Amino acid sequence: MPVFINGYIMEVKTKICTKCCLEKDVCFFSFFKKKNRHDSRCRTCRNIAGRAYRLLPGRKEKNKESWKRYWFRTQNRVVDLLGGECLWCKESNPIFLTIDHINNDGQLHRLKGANRVYLDIIADNNRKEKYRILCYSCNCARQRVSDQEIMNAIKGRK
Ligand SMILES: [Zn+2]
Ligand SMILES: [Zn+2]
Repeated sequence: MPVFINGYIMEVKTKICTKCCLEKDVCFFSFFKKKNRHDSRCRTCRNIAGRAYRLLPGRKEKNKESWKRYWFRTQNRVVDLLGGECLWCKESNPIFLTIDHINNDGQLHRLKGANRVYLDIIADNNRKEKYRILCYSCNCARQRVSDQEIMNAIKGRK
């Protein structure tokens, strides 16, 4: 419907929400880029529906589960990208592996959230210069002795 704004005729796009049946400006509807269309429900209705959905019985546990699955998937992906095994002792069981920040800036990085760390690594093309896979035991040993001493110890074991 055309309206006058400061004397100009402006075409204002509106949409009728399928839920509350109110006609609102399109900016009240989220735009889905992939589908190239606006949401059929207005933001208010979508938020209310989202909140109700999260409060459904059992939803909290299911969310926790799917988060856990997502977490392991991401972790495995990062481990694969970085070589899939401990750089020093070649341990490859993912439950023993950690991501080591070569420049020792891990503490600062982890402040952004552990998930952020994973996503940063996945997005980073120079990841192998900054991160490496170590198992817990090699990583802990690293706090005590030099890298060279650890490698010597591993060689001696074999
Ligand atoms: Zn609505
Ligand atoms: Zn190791």
